[in-house]
Amino acid sequence: MLAVKIYGKKDIRIVECDIPQISPDEILVKTSAAAICGSDLRMMENGYHGIDEAHPIILGHEMCGVIAKTGENVSGYKAGDRVAIAPNIGCGHCKNCLEGDYHLCGEYQAMGINMDGGFAQYIRVPKKALEQGNVILIDDNVSAEEAAIFEPAACVLNGQEQIGIHKGEDVLIIGAGPIGILHGLLARLQGAGRIFLSDLSQARVQKCIELMPDIIPLDAENLEQDVMEKTGGKGVDVCITACAAKAVQETSFALMNMKGRILFFGGLPNGKDLIQMHSNLLHYKELKVCGSTRCNAQQCRKIASLVREGKLDLKGLISQKFEIQDFEEAVGYAASGQGLKTVILFKTEKGN
Ligand SMILES: [Zn+2]
Ligand SMILES: [Zn+2]
Repeated sequence: MLAVKIYGKKDIRIVECDIPQISPDEILVKTSAAAICGSDLRMMENGYHGIDEAHPIILGHEMCGVIAKTGENVSGYKAGDRVAIAPNIGCGHCKNCLEGDYHLCGEYQAMGINMDGGFAQYIRVPKKALEQGNVILIDDNVSAEEAAIFEPAACVLNGQEQIGIHKGEDVLIIGAGPIGILHGLLARLQGAGRIFLSDLSQARVQKCIELMPDIIPLDAENLEQDVMEKTGGKGVDVCITACAAKAVQETSFALMNMKGRILFFGGLPNGKDLIQMHSNLLHYKELKVCGSTRCNAQQCRKIASLVREGKLDLKGLISQKFEIQDFEEAVGYAASGQGLKTVILFKTEKGN
């Protein structure tokens, strides 16, 4: 089969390798689609600990496919089932794992991060992933492209579960990439009032408005002033930083209403994460600041339900589709930031 392997910093190769063997407790999935994530781009640029010439892995953690084979001990799944695969795997017995938060386990592993992932024609799903509910059945009305991006949508849901968005609240999203628009779509579902969006790139803001015409763009150059004008001097109830900018995190405190909640969704580059803030803003306004990272399988399942029920439409996020042979071109497109999500599509028996 063809697979995209990472061997280290700036060393990605499209290689021919054997279709993985599965144990009696595992399943083999024929990949339908796998999406490129910003963290894939960072892994390609910077490398990742544990990955080198002797220890390459197959990249890709946003993936779905059709079950090709199930091990003899596997129940609940059969060949031909369409499935999305959540990538995060925990030890299964620590406190976080017992609460379902496998993505916060001290022994955290993830497909496409430190074990083989989805940019390959076949995916071996390990026993623990099956046990932890990572294999999610998908309905025929949900396209493979959409199922491939359940995971980033679930990460966004995880963030919003931390801060809570209540009916009618003003929400500001800073960063108009795929994560920003996903925050917009989910905030709308939670009953947000006005949804403001700010990004230094007008082209990106415009793309988000095409998908969500009720989004209100703000002047990124004079953000504080624009927020205060539009909220009658109060500030927003929720601010989500969906970008990796220190200045944005620092500014966010001044944009908040009383009892406002700030979500630092986008992480900052390693070693450049020390920020300054006026702590009295936090104190006198009773602000809350939350962080979020990754997602659990339950959140992926919630996204699957929302898409199946027609409440969440992810189709508009797919900007370009490529075949695995053209992976480098796909990466170039994804890195250019012109579109939202870039998806690698594979031909399957079901023609997805
Ligand atoms: Zn991702
Ligand atoms: Zn654990």
